[in-house]
Amino acid sequence: AFEGLGERLQQTLQKIKGKGKVTEADVKEMMREVRFALIEADVNLKVVKEFVKKVSERAVGSDVMQSLTPGQQVVKIVRDELAELMGGETEAITFAKKPPTVIMMVGLQGAGKTTTTGKLANLIRKKYNRKPLLAAADVYRPAAIQQLETIGKQLGMPVFQLGTEADPVDIAKQAVAKAKEDHNDVVFIDTAGRLQIDEDLMQELRNIHDAVKPDEVYLVVDAMTGQVAANVAETFDQQVGVTGVVLTKLDGDTRGGAALSIRSVTGKPIKFAGMGEKLDALEPFHPERMASRILGMGDVMSLIEKAQTNVDEEKAKELEQKFRDQSFTFDDFLEQLEQVKKMGPLDEILKMLPGAGKIKGIDNVKVDEKQMDRVEAVIKSMTIAEKSKPEIINSSRKKRIARGSGTSIQEVNRLLKQFDEMRKMMKQMSNMQQGKGKRKMKM
Ligand code: GDP
Ligand code: MG
Repeated sequence: AFEGLGERLQQTLQKIKGKGKVTEADVKEMMREVRFALIEADVNLKVVKEFVKKVSERAVGSDVMQSLTPGQQVVKIVRDELAELMGGETEAITFAKKPPTVIMMVGLQGAGKTTTTGKLANLIRKKYNRKPLLAAADVYRPAAIQQLETIGKQLGMPVFQLGTEADPVDIAKQAVAKAKEDHNDVVFIDTAGRLQIDEDLMQELRNIHDAVKPDEVYLVVDAMTGQVAANVAETFDQQVGVTGVVLTKLDGDTRGGAALSIRSVTGKPIKFAGMGEKLDALEPFHPERMASRILGMGDVMSLIEKAQTNVDEEKAKELEQKFRDQSFTFDDFLEQLEQVKKMGPLDEILKMLPGAGKIKGIDNVKVDEKQMDRVEAVIKSMTIAEKSKPEIINSSRKKRIARGSGTSIQEVNRLLKQFDEMRKMMKQMSNMQQGKGKRKMKM
């Protein structure tokens, strides 16, 4: 993805990355090229301006990071700001307290709504153990219903349809009723698109929205469409209300304009990325990883990670204190988890470790990140009080947490037990360490 943009930014940053000293003139010249690269990638002009301004300010005033050269720091700033443009953390799916969860898919024709409906249903079934029903509410093209039927068959999932004569609002309402009856806990409403935004379509989508009150409205956007996508997103959001964006066709040679403009223009998070036509080609969208990928430069990127680890040493000390007085909470735990996740896919990291190449079977190692996501979901479903005082989590609270996170009571129990053991272990460790005097614990 982002071939052209990536290359241009890489070329530009290549010049500065080796510099031991970066002058204001260097930054200025670099930013001229960055600006050009972004405009050429069809990024919204206002977004480009703000981006250039922010990076320039930070690069000139450069928040000093000991272990990076000034040139490398500039690369880091560009990476950070690119990630920021695409939105901070990826957010989880909001499931309804009372099933079924209704997810409405909207977008222009050909954006990938129907395909993404299948992909997302597949992902939700695998990752959250749900049983989706797919509803065909695009009645304008007979082929659209057929397409969803085919996807349903491939996935072994039920498809609800009333033919091409029915009212999409009725289809949506009846689909939800049918899901309740059949105990399908998620309903996807695959709606119609148009080649361009028109008032009839918006009215229809609003009617469907009013009728079924979806928990999520995902706008599906073709990443190839550049900054137009941001305007489309803005309109859909104003007219229908969007909760998240799915960017499709990131496997192709996209210019980057869509990905880099949408978040700034609409304020809506990009939640998933479509990476191909197959039904498993959908990934959660990770802005930092995407930014690193755009900039390539594995060497500098790994240095940046290391530098960040150093900054985190302060944090580590803080944590150590928390272990000692046992005030380590689920919030701290979550923070640790996110730190690890930021570094990228775990099995990839494993392979990069020195000497890893010599280990037999390392290529087959698969770290279960889904498991980590589930743990994260459980913690995020806790209240503030529960996170800091897990002792108060009784069985009715457990039930609520399991439901809210789309997991099971067993899973909640397992995590609570592990957390408790971890706390005990930490306590022991810090006791031991205190006994030995002032030896520093390496984390
Ligand atoms: P809809 O009109 O919005 O429902 O769009 P469709 O789901 O019918 O998709 C339109 C075309 O885009 C189909 O040929 C899909 O196979 C293709 N498509 C959808 N998502 C992706 C993706 O992430 N990558 C690629 N390469 N093709 C995609
Ligand atoms: Mg469709």
